[in-house]
Amino acid sequence: MRKSITAVFVLIFISTVVTAFLFNTNTKQEQVFRDIYDNPFREINGLVAGYGTRPFTLTTTYVVTGAGADPRGSLKPVSPVDIRTGNTSLMRIALTIDDGWNADMRILDLLKSSGIRFTTFLIGGRGISDAHPEFLQAIQDAGGEICNHTNEHALMQGRSREFVVNDIWKAQGTISRTTHRVYPYIRFMGGSFDNTSLAAAAGEGFYHVHWNLSCGDTVTGNTVERQVANVLNGLSPGSIILCHWGGHNTYEVLSIIIPEIQRRGFEVTSLTRVLEGTPYLLNSPR
Ligand SMILES: [Zn+2]
Repeated sequence: MRKSITAVFVLIFISTVVTAFLFNTNTKQEQVFRDIYDNPFREINGLVAGYGTRPFTLTTTYVVTGAGADPRGSLKPVSPVDIRTGNTSLMRIALTIDDGWNADMRILDLLKSSGIRFTTFLIGGRGISDAHPEFLQAIQDAGGEICNHTNEHALMQGRSREFVVNDIWKAQGTISRTTHRVYPYIRFMGGSFDNTSLAAAAGEGFYHVHWNLSCGDTVTGNTVERQVANVLNGLSPGSIILCHWGGHNTYEVLSIIIPEIQRRGFEVTSLTRVLEGTPYLLNSPR
């Protein structure tokens, strides 16, 4: 008899503790959610959070934006930098794919079937992100990080700071309408810029990202063999590969180099995976 009374008390005690714990975490989550709803770019515990129709997420690599939210001003200013490689002590290679014109959808199928992450720098306007949100959605669903390749794809040398800033945020507004994300990376057209445009991007929170290996898919008349060799001969930890959605032989080259790079012991992956351990992630200590 005494044993069963003790057992009942123990059960009551346990259920009280469990209920109190569940209630407490629920209340906390609701409070955080309300705070984020009031300000989608509020920082919580040093991480930038956001809200949306989905449950909010905290992330170290991108800002989450709400439906209809203007992402302008969502990033903290950074020091001007032109990133050419990722972390050279990790066996990771970043695959970056630019533009979006004449997209060869076999590329997306290949990336999906390879099961790798990747990064794309998409143009905001000019019939790309503005006209094809379904393309952006398909890329994101396939595990692709969608970053900013400016709105007009204009040469940035000699432009005013105001032109650069407006062009960047116009593109980002269009991209984030579909992705609900802002990555702190930009690639200017041709990877070229001057001090004004680099400083303008940094002032808005964007690191400029170049590449150190190219698929050579902007050169018509190039051969698959030459293009493949160009990438494989220069391969080293932290490399950033450039190619294009509608480039010359891009699909053929990728179908050869992805398995070959993996065979050599590297992970073919996204920019943020390759930048791990560098100061260039969204919330890296600076
Ligand atoms: Zn481009």
